[in-house]
Amino acid sequence: MADEGFYAASPITSGSDAIIDWTFTDCNERGAAYFGLQKHELIGKNFSSFYSTASLERILETCARAVKDGCYEDEYQESPGSPLKIQWVRRQLVASGDGLAISLRDISGIKEYTIEMSRLANEDLITTLPNRKWLAEFLPDVLANAKSKVALLFIDLDDFKNVNDSLGHSIGDLLLRAAAMRLRSVLGSHDTVVRLGGDEFAIVLTELKTNGEAKRVAELVNEILRFPLELVKGKKSITASIGVSFFPDDAEDMDTLLKSAEIAMYSAKKTGKAHYRFYNPTLYKSLKDRLVLEQELSEAIERDQFILHYEPRMRIESGKLCGMEALVRWNHPERGLVPPLEFIPLAESTGLILELGELIIEKAFKQILLWEKSNLPVLPVSINISAHQFNMGNLSQAFFNAFDKYKISPHLIEIELTESVMLGEQTSILKELSAIRSLGIKLLLDDFGTGYSSLSQLQRLKMDTLKVDRAFLHDLEKSREGEIFVKAIISMAHALGMSVIAEGVESGAQLEILHSLSCDEIQGHYLSKPMPGEEMSELLARSDAPMVIYPYALPQPA
Ligand code: C2E
Ligand code: MG
Ligand code: MG
Repeated sequence: MADEGFYAASPITSGSDAIIDWTFTDCNERGAAYFGLQKHELIGKNFSSFYSTASLERILETCARAVKDGCYEDEYQESPGSPLKIQWVRRQLVASGDGLAISLRDISGIKEYTIEMSRLANEDLITTLPNRKWLAEFLPDVLANAKSKVALLFIDLDDFKNVNDSLGHSIGDLLLRAAAMRLRSVLGSHDTVVRLGGDEFAIVLTELKTNGEAKRVAELVNEILRFPLELVKGKKSITASIGVSFFPDDAEDMDTLLKSAEIAMYSAKKTGKAHYRFYNPTLYKSLKDRLVLEQELSEAIERDQFILHYEPRMRIESGKLCGMEALVRWNHPERGLVPPLEFIPLAESTGLILELGELIIEKAFKQILLWEKSNLPVLPVSINISAHQFNMGNLSQAFFNAFDKYKISPHLIEIELTESVMLGEQTSILKELSAIRSLGIKLLLDDFGTGYSSLSQLQRLKMDTLKVDRAFLHDLEKSREGEIFVKAIISMAHALGMSVIAEGVESGAQLEILHSLSCDEIQGHYLSKPMPGEEMSELLARSDAPMVIYPYALPQPA
């Protein structure tokens, strides 16, 4: 059978010569088959026997145009009640004598293919949600026709990268699909959810009466995501940081609406995750300030605007200098010396800590070499390593390279780690710690007491020394309990073979108590504030004399 249906049709006119119907005068088999008939069954039939009045009217109009112009061509989708057994039709009507030569072609296959292609282009493959491309076409229309408020929720899953890295991409995909399903389930009939990419989703809420409705959906999103998911390797619960912006209050176009919601999301991320924030202009300012600081920090690393200060440490027993802590400062061209707490967290979250950390190691080694060249009796220098730096970088390699370059004795280097370092994957942490220790570097646990690790966990990590956080010193003089607590820490640490340093000692009274509790070393403003390397040279030169002369009797060894 031919793959096109052909028909010849003649007009039927009324008394006033107006065409009121057409009749099939000929057709081929395909043409008849489109109507579900044989050739002889179709020939002689009028159009009106197949079509309702309304449909017939439209067809008569089309035929009239073909007669008038000589030719008419189009593509259309048949309506459900059509007598034609095809969905998508390309038709051509050519005037021929009094009548029309009509050809119809079934183009359903091609149409379905192009529809499918456009669906794929507009759909996210992993979650089958509409994608960002679709949103870009859909949202402007929604805004243009909005009769009430529209809210955009920018949803970013928290710590998704960790899941992907630790559990693998297939589990990551599973999680995204589950999240997508849950997000769909919180939507009303006027709402839409799309996957923007990665672990980012957006929900568009239309026909809002109050901002409170968006607040409710945002809360619901976290409630429903939190519900633990069964995975092959156990259960996993997810949360999201959500930013909400409103049309027309926060933005009048799609791009600004998206940007504002993203800024609000960013702020939710920075303030503890797992919650939502509404956009407001001050968020934009703080984000901008942060971006400026980030830019400056990255330039500062390039231009080497950092210096180290050194805070002396003293052995309680002898009263003599026994080491020091290297503390970084940013020598900002306009702001002067910027303390580390104002830029280390940013350096960590941006990853700049890796470069900065190497710069700090390099500086400490250089300083030690300088002291050695000046024939000063150098004492151990402890270098702070933040958790991100430990987890991201190959620290043992960095220290190995530094020893190789500066040829200084390993006993002069110590590193300070905080308890948060232990949160990651245990075997790789233990491996890295043992690699560092095998270089001859001592391990100090900084800020002990502020985290959650137990002493037995610390022993497993083979820490050499425990630094008791400044916060405990505060309680030391204030209450009997404060003293009991520090006493317990010291005796347990000693029992596990670790020595103890008390940080932030500010008074002789604190020193006296620590002395009586057999604490090994102290540092803090009572001895000295952190100082530049040149000043430390002077202290090193006098290091065989005690820094403190005790006005009270030393406890006698038992
Ligand atoms: P941290 O390692 O616990 O350092 C002790 C901080 O307490 C230092 O502040 C020090 O100046 C301050 N301090 C010492 N004695 C006293 C005292 O008696 N009273 C009071 N009120 N404060 C005292 P700083 O230098 O501002 O450092 C703050 C934190 O920044 C450090 O805490 C450390 O976590 C981080 N940090 C400093 N330098 C570096 C570095 O080179 N790399 C990394 N990753 N972090 C660093
Ligand atoms: Mg420290
Ligand atoms: Mg500390």
